[in-house]
Amino acid sequence: MKYSVNEHGYYGNFGGAYIPEMLYPNVEELRNRYLEIMNEPDFQDEFQALLRDYVGRPTPLYLAKRLSEKYKTNLYLKREDLNHTGAHKINNTIGQILLAKRLGKKRIIAETGAGQHGVATATVCALAGVECVVHMGKLDIERQAPNVSRMRMLGATVVPSLSGSQTLKDATNEAIRDWINHPTDTHYIIGSVVGPHPYPDMVARFQSVISQEMKAQLLEKTDSENPDYIIACVGGGSNAAGAFYHYLENEEVKLIAVEAAGLGVETDQTAATSVLGTTGVLHGSKILLMQTEDGQVIEPYSISAGLDYPGVGPLYGHLKETKRAEFISITDDEALESAYELSRIEGIIPALETAHALAVLRKVPFKETDTVVINLSGRGDKDLQTYIEQLDRFTT
Ligand SMILES: *Cc1c(COP(=O)(O)O)cnc(C)c1O
Repeated sequence: MKYSVNEHGYYGNFGGAYIPEMLYPNVEELRNRYLEIMNEPDFQDEFQALLRDYVGRPTPLYLAKRLSEKYKTNLYLKREDLNHTGAHKINNTIGQILLAKRLGKKRIIAETGAGQHGVATATVCALAGVECVVHMGKLDIERQAPNVSRMRMLGATVVPSLSGSQTLKDATNEAIRDWINHPTDTHYIIGSVVGPHPYPDMVARFQSVISQEMKAQLLEKTDSENPDYIIACVGGGSNAAGAFYHYLENEEVKLIAVEAAGLGVETDQTAATSVLGTTGVLHGSKILLMQTEDGQVIEPYSISAGLDYPGVGPLYGHLKETKRAEFISITDDEALESAYELSRIEGIIPALETAHALAVLRKVPFKETDTVVINLSGRGDKDLQTYIEQLDRFTT
């Protein structure tokens, strides 16, 4: 299999597990057990039942008629925005909490930037009755007050990270320190296809339910389980990994990964890792990374908090290098334009992250006969403040 992880945790030249020695036992336990646990019938039964009855799966595959007419092609939206908590992230946190219980863990830690992954983690900890500690930069705690309140309401403890820039990377450092100090009783729930092996593969497997459902739904609606294109936005890459997963080895299905250009790839206010990134190690994995010549991580920027990560998961370095996926960068304004467009034309307010994927419609001339699936990763409630502030610029 060209596009799955090998036994050493690599996708081609990317991936691996670059971790401090003190973390080795924790990661090793996970690496040794994750596939065996995930393949147990009892695990699958419980996972599938919760995806159905708690998350609300399967999510619809919706033929967007008016949008299709406008762009003269056949557009389907995979409605991950209709999941409980409003995005795809819950697919992964449900999977990991069940895994943590089977590993005998009593305590969950996570790190969060915008707070979306923190909320998805606090949610499943409440569901499972497990202690939850979320590390979050002090600055992010101030900027993301509604999500901090949600996490607290769900019973989680939100611990401010006071070091460095007091944002996501400092929270990540604190989470790793926490895990080193609690090696036996704690599981670290990572929220995207990033981090040391086996996280990227494990998270992709939990999210793969997206393309699994897509296949059956397309077969029913179009008489073929294969679309011509699948489009998804990429922060760390988990919703895209789920949407691509069962199609990776089928090269007839074209994959488009969409990154945030921020104010433009030619500016220093961007998060377009595939354009500007070079190979480096971040958060335990060899990935494409925005960094200076001497290896300092460059602070990314996007209007969308879920996309401003300085790297992309190891799968994406490989998809770029092998040209299996096409990478397109979308600016803040292009994404905003598409968010207002989808709202007016289909009655769906998308997350700002998702709006980047939608903006590809104005960049790629699809054929009238093409079947195009866009992964609608999340809903826009969380972005309402930004949408209100920008409304005058985009409605005429
Ligand atoms: C977090 C988030 C993303 C980005 O994360 P990925 O791991 O790249 O999927 C995209 N869309 C929404 C709605 C999100 O909440």
